[in-house]
Amino acid sequence: MSADPLVAERDAALASIAALTGEFDAVVAASKASNADDEHDPEGATIAFERQQVAALLEAARRRLTDAEAALARRDDGSYGVCESCGSAIGAERLAARPAARTCITCAR
Ligand SMILES: [Zn+2]
Repeated sequence: MSADPLVAERDAALASIAALTGEFDAVVAASKASNADDEHDPEGATIAFERQQVAALLEAARRRLTDAEAALARRDDGSYGVCESCGSAIGAERLAARPAARTCITCAR
């Protein structure tokens, strides 16, 4: 693990995307193998639900990666730690909890 919280965050997002992509492929393969009818077969409905769940998690992991990369870029250009919405400094505690936070705690609410 890296000591840099933003790099660690990006790596965690990448690892999670890799794991979820594998999971998504497995669910898709399972749905093909079962040849199930999504709407009428109960097993098909379960697989369709699983596929949606994994797709949603994958979407969240990709957002997490985007946020981490944006934060790394902001650190390079010196705007890291500044709220994108109101321009105030993002609290140190919030950055410790969420290194890739784009907004201050007030704007996040
Ligand atoms: Zn703000």
